[in-house]
Amino acid sequence: MANKRVLITGAAGFLGSHLCDRFIKEGYDVVGMDNLITGDLRNIEHLFKLKEFEFYHHDVSKFVHVSGPIDYILHFASPASPIDYLKIPIQTLKVGSLGTHNLLGFARVKKARILVASTSEVYGDPTVHPQTEEYWGNVNPIGPRGVYDEAKRFQEAITMAYHTYHGLETRIIRIFNTYGPRMRLNDGRVLPAFIGQALRGEDLTVFGDGSQTRSFCYVDDLVEGIYRLLKSDYVYPVNIGNPAEITIAQFGEEIIKLTGTKQKLIYKALPQDDPKQRKPDISRAQEILNWEPKINREEGLKLTYEYFKSLPQEDLYRTAHRFD
Ligand code: UDP
Repeated sequence: MANKRVLITGAAGFLGSHLCDRFIKEGYDVVGMDNLITGDLRNIEHLFKLKEFEFYHHDVSKFVHVSGPIDYILHFASPASPIDYLKIPIQTLKVGSLGTHNLLGFARVKKARILVASTSEVYGDPTVHPQTEEYWGNVNPIGPRGVYDEAKRFQEAITMAYHTYHGLETRIIRIFNTYGPRMRLNDGRVLPAFIGQALRGEDLTVFGDGSQTRSFCYVDDLVEGIYRLLKSDYVYPVNIGNPAEITIAQFGEEIIKLTGTKQKLIYKALPQDDPKQRKPDISRAQEILNWEPKINREEGLKLTYEYFKSLPQEDLYRTAHRFD
C-alpha cells in the first residue's frame, strides 16, 4: 500500500521543518511548500535525498496545486515574530487569510484533513489568565501585531466555516511560545535575541521592566501535540504550550547562566501592545489528546544552545530577512 501523503506549508521554517522530520519518521510521504521569505532551506536540506520528500518553492497566498493524492495538510506558513510583522505586514495578512482560503479549497479538492496553525496571539493582551480556549481575547486590530493576530483570527473563522458549511475535516491548534533548534537566530524573538547577544558578547536587551511573562514550550513537545491533534476527531481549537510561566527578566538571567556570558541585562522600551502575561491552560489537550509537555526549560534550553553554538559564525551577524 502506498504511504499516506501530507502537505506541509512553511516546510523550511522552524516548526514546519520539524514537522517534516516527524512525518517522514512516521512513514509518510511529505510534500514541503515554502516561499522562503522567512524559511531557510538549510532546515530541510537533509530531506532532499529521500524519495519520500519533495519540495515546492511556492507562495500559498497564490493558487495552490499539487498533483496526486494528499491525505493531510498542515498549514504552518506564516511570519511569526513581531519584527516580521513590522517588515512584511501585507504578506503576514495574506498568508493567514488568502493562504488559508487557498489551502481549504485545496483540501476540499483532495478530500484531505487540514490542520491550521493558530496562535496564542488570538488572545491578544489577555485579561484572563491562564488562557483557556473559551476566552475570546483582547486584540488591537490596528496595532503592530494586528496583521498577525487578525489574520489568525480570520483563519480560525474560515476554517470553522469550511467545517460547518462544507463538512471539511479541520483541526485548529493554538500555539504558545515555542523554542528549539532551527529558530532563526535574528528573527527578533526573545530566545534567539538573548542567545545571539550572549554569543556576540553583547548585553541582553530586556524590553520594558521585564515583568511581562511568557511560557516556553520545547519544539518536540509541540510537534507531539500537533501529531495527536491531527489524529484526533476534535474540531475546536486546542491550546498547545508549556504552562511553566516565567518573567522575561528571569528568563534573561537563565540565559546568562546557561551561556556563562559576562554581559548583563539592559532595559529598553517596551514595544506597543506587548502582552503582559501569557500562559496556556492545557486542560483540553490533557483531556482530549492525553498530551502534556515532557521537556523542561533547563533541558530544552541546553539543546537549543547547543544548536545555536553549532551555527557558522557569520549567522550571528546576518540580517533578519533575505530582502533586508
Ligand atoms: N523581548 C525582550 N527582548 C528582546 C526580544 C523580546 O525583552 O530582545 C520580550 C518581548 O517584549 C516580549 C517577550 O520578550 O515581552 C517575548 O517576545 P517574543 O518576540 O519572543 O514573542 P511574543 O511577544 O510574541 O510572545
